[in-house]
Amino acid sequence: ETIPQALARTVARFPDRPAAVFPAQGVRVTWSEFATAVDDLAAGLLALGLEKGDRIGIWSPNRWEWLLTQFATARIGLVMVNINPAYRLYELEYALNKVGCRALVTAASFKSSDYLGMVAELAPELATSKPGELQAARLPHLQFVIRMGEASSPGMIRFDDVAGLGTARERARLDAITASLDRDEAINIQFTSGTTGAPKGATLTHSNILNNAHFVTAAMNLTEQDRLCIPVPLYHCFGMVMGTLGCVTKGAAMVFPGEGFDPEATLSAVAAERCTALYGVPTMFVAMLDHPGFAGFDLSSLRTGIMAGAPCPIEVMKKVQSQMNMREVTIAYGMTETSPVSFQSHVDDPLEKRVSTVGRVHPHVEVKVVDAEGRTVPPGERGELCTRGYSVMKGYWDEAEKTAEAIDEEGWMHTGDLATIDAEGYCNIVGRVKDMIIRGGENVYPREVEEFLYRHPKVREVQVFGVPDARYGEEVCAWIVPAGEAPSEEEIREFCRGQIAHYKIPRYVRIRPSLPMTVTGKPQKFVMRDEMVGELG
Ligand code: ATP
Ligand code: MG
Repeated sequence: ETIPQALARTVARFPDRPAAVFPAQGVRVTWSEFATAVDDLAAGLLALGLEKGDRIGIWSPNRWEWLLTQFATARIGLVMVNINPAYRLYELEYALNKVGCRALVTAASFKSSDYLGMVAELAPELATSKPGELQAARLPHLQFVIRMGEASSPGMIRFDDVAGLGTARERARLDAITASLDRDEAINIQFTSGTTGAPKGATLTHSNILNNAHFVTAAMNLTEQDRLCIPVPLYHCFGMVMGTLGCVTKGAAMVFPGEGFDPEATLSAVAAERCTALYGVPTMFVAMLDHPGFAGFDLSSLRTGIMAGAPCPIEVMKKVQSQMNMREVTIAYGMTETSPVSFQSHVDDPLEKRVSTVGRVHPHVEVKVVDAEGRTVPPGERGELCTRGYSVMKGYWDEAEKTAEAIDEEGWMHTGDLATIDAEGYCNIVGRVKDMIIRGGENVYPREVEEFLYRHPKVREVQVFGVPDARYGEEVCAWIVPAGEAPSEEEIREFCRGQIAHYKIPRYVRIRPSLPMTVTGKPQKFVMRDEMVGELG
């Protein structure tokens, strides 16, 4: 099956059930209304002259147009390229040229970023081009710029006008094109979060992401009766695979609380739409639980959801279950390169396993944990996690060398994450290989120290990482976002004494109002480390 076939199946089963709600944009559609809007846009894109295999970039926060573009491009086999909403001019140029985008769908602006201004600056030729005839020196492949919003801009096409361009001729082609698609063809290029450095573009097929979306939502027993709240970014696999595509496979409704994450907007969307499921990365759940008005929101409709994307502190998981009514919440582990999920707890797993592990391996995925020499380690021992199966990407777009570093000749994806898998198959993510601290010959796993520090009542968020040290090679550093009154450096060290081994106790403690984050809400330790290196000289 391909993505448009999966959508058609759900539309046929549940034509009049709710499909998507964007309260901020006043959009509320059923599955059949959604399918009509998708076909209108797909026909319009054909009328522009875009053809199967063409790359089309999308640069936008969570908007209705994003959702339409995802399914309209899939309908006719265009390869959608997700562009990070945090990108600026230079990165946009790089991404568009890297994959040779023929078209760009762009929001007008997001927060303080003027997207249209940046596009016009990159392609000043727009001012004198007819829409669709752009020839820009810095963007040699780009022909069409499709902009969202009411106004029009020189040389650009208005998003709302595209749907009107398709004639009976284009409409008549839609089904034949869909039937000609192969599930093993590329349909999407997704960029990784950029947690450890520059983001990488993973090339993914229908089969990769559609199957994964199915298994992810099956683990939560999601059905057409559910309403899933999606505050995570659509540009990332969490939003567009586990979220939108996951709902399409089950006929569940999607609720989008806003363009970017806001704890209050998310809590009110859950309450107003009576959502049964909610997604988020750990820091989003922390922000919701800590919201001053938290107690005033009626979250009684919630049942399940997913916390994923970064280490999920046990304390936070417990609160999500007890205070947010998400009794059946699951943890998932994955990466963009594997479509994304490979481990997920299941609603039937014992509670203890559900809060403390990332669950067991997904169906049809093989795993092994290896030591530095590539030998499989015994159950319970630490090593690098490797995965293999249908979900592994085709490769990084146009990066044969990087692809070969990540995926070996036998098809194993080397995740770069340290893990243990116990005898029953439950997996614990210990941290990233790159983040492990070696202090005076002792290995320190930041995750372990973070879990301990989360128990301190004055700690709201904490990140632990290594900084270079002349004597020990590396020293342990902790950055803390306080919950109310800030703890002192000595207070934190005193809290650790006698509780964890002396070499794990942070030598440096810094209090920060917030932590450097990716758009996907992941703490960027490399940014913290760089800043400490600057401070320590
Ligand atoms: P980049 O590869 O650009 O540095 P990234 O690895 O964060 O960024 P993603 O593909 O978005 O990009 O995220 C995958 C990574 O997120 C995993 O390799 C893992 O380190 C982390 N991760 C995901 N889920 C979990 C989880 N449940 N527990 C711990 N870590 C997780
Ligand atoms: Mg990665």
